[in-house]
Amino acid sequence: MTAEGTLRADIVEVGRRMYARGYTASNDGNISARLGSDRLLMTPKGVCKGFMTPDMLCITDLEGKKVQGDRDPSSEMLMHLEVYRQRPDVAAVVHAHPPTATGFAVAGIPLDRAVLAEVLTTLGSIPIAAYATPSTSELPEAVRRFVKAHDGMLLANHGALTIGADVYAAYYKMETIEHFAKISLVARLLGRENLISREEVGRLQGLRDTYGIKAPAPICAEDEPAQDPAACQVVQAPSSPRARLVPSADGDGEIRLTYRQLTELIEDAVRTLR
Ligand SMILES: [Zn+2]
Repeated sequence: MTAEGTLRADIVEVGRRMYARGYTASNDGNISARLGSDRLLMTPKGVCKGFMTPDMLCITDLEGKKVQGDRDPSSEMLMHLEVYRQRPDVAAVVHAHPPTATGFAVAGIPLDRAVLAEVLTTLGSIPIAAYATPSTSELPEAVRRFVKAHDGMLLANHGALTIGADVYAAYYKMETIEHFAKISLVARLLGRENLISREEVGRLQGLRDTYGIKAPAPICAEDEPAQDPAACQVVQAPSSPRARLVPSADGDGEIRLTYRQLTELIEDAVRTLR
């Protein structure tokens, strides 16, 4: 198979996996990849990503002008073009609406707590790009703020975006984000989240070099003065020189009541006021 044929097959396969895993519904989501130095291969508009065939993809130039294909490129093409403009090292972009990660994006809660060692070494933090109307030029603008230092981000009230050195690398980051979101949700439902200490985060950052993980930016602490989201990945990790895990403040002293207990308390309070 030619290089272009392989790339088409990879995009089709990733679309199938995204749909099969419920990361997209209906015609949602889009995937693109660099095809040589001045061309992009892009999923088409209005097609379910679970049932694409290689011939459905279209080729555009780096300005988004279609140069080949029967169908029109994705309505989110502008966001893809912006990523390639900002990140010459990136060769593929994946956008989807994985439900748990998108729930965090809707709640306005970034996935930026130091919780899982693997997520810290690969993605660092997963910030939220500001809400923008889909398919307009606002969205690339919102993404621009984070894309230099992050390979994955949530899009407020919309979904998630991941990028990588090839189509599978970008897609696997989407899997990591959704998996991380599910684990974070369960931990928060259980009422406690032990965080990895700042010192341990430093050690994990050292592992990036050992394992040759190419991160676009270093991890920095939330209380460091320079918090430029274009220069570093801001991770919430409490300092604790002697412990590698620190119980989060959220779980401490938390009182959980059932609806009935809460109603009784309110009724008691109302009675004493009478
Ligand atoms: Zn979308």
